[in-house]
Amino acid sequence: PGAAGPALRVEGLSRHFGSLRAVDDVSFEVAPGSRHAVIGPNGAGKSTLFALVAGALPATSGSVWLHGEDVTSLTEHGRARRGLVRTFQHSSLFLTATARENVLLAVQRRHGIQARPWGAVRRRRALLEEADAVLERLFLHRRSGQAAGALSHGERRQLEVAVALATSPSVLLLDEPAAGMSPADTQAFQEIVLALPSDVTVLLVEHDLDLVFGVADRVTVMQLGQHLLTGDPAQVRASDAVQKAYLGA
Ligand code: ADP
Ligand code: MG
Repeated sequence: PGAAGPALRVEGLSRHFGSLRAVDDVSFEVAPGSRHAVIGPNGAGKSTLFALVAGALPATSGSVWLHGEDVTSLTEHGRARRGLVRTFQHSSLFLTATARENVLLAVQRRHGIQARPWGAVRRRRALLEEADAVLERLFLHRRSGQAAGALSHGERRQLEVAVALATSPSVLLLDEPAAGMSPADTQAFQEIVLALPSDVTVLLVEHDLDLVFGVADRVTVMQLGQHLLTGDPAQVRASDAVQKAYLGA
């Protein structure tokens, strides 16, 4: 439903912690196929907003819409089943399984194969091909036989995206992917975001402005829980209000 409308819309979204308005009446839209970044100084409410959109945290008020459907009352799992998928945390990777096996498990989940994962030989081959295509897209094909636990920090982040992508999301949520990454890993991660399929909408919450301006076609700026501005990267760079927010005014 709602193919022509925004992929994702938040409407008057708020989350209060006691008297603190961590997210305060935020509204914006994410266009289908866009690479949309949410930025803002520390404490702006980015992580809280991300949790509200993913469904990991209930909103105090407001709503979240996915392709025209109100998903506010759905759990994180319910939203994921409708295609709103966040990257999985490190802890959700099977560290002793190979990169390929981790992606294959996600492909199997997507096809609803649980009881007899190895099924018919032909089907197994098709699933493996799907897993390998995802690994190749994420530049991990040379690592496919490595245990996830043996990958570098940056490669594990890549694998988390691969696992999320293997579930065939319509909207992919990336939560501060560059956090704790070296400059080289961040640079590599930029290539990965740029290589994601164009029909997957990406909402990226990120502190690293080099990464944001390297990948985003649309940027939402938050400050002290509030929506400051949504615009294209040039508009955001040129904004006096954004400059002030980042200089800690
Ligand atoms: P950002 O990710 O932009 O740095 P956060 O969303 O983490 O911002 O935090 C926004 C504000 O909400 C901060 O003042 C933070 O201290 C507060 N906050 C976040 N989570 C909680 C929580 N679980 N309980 C109380 N305050 C919180
Ligand atoms: Mg944060």
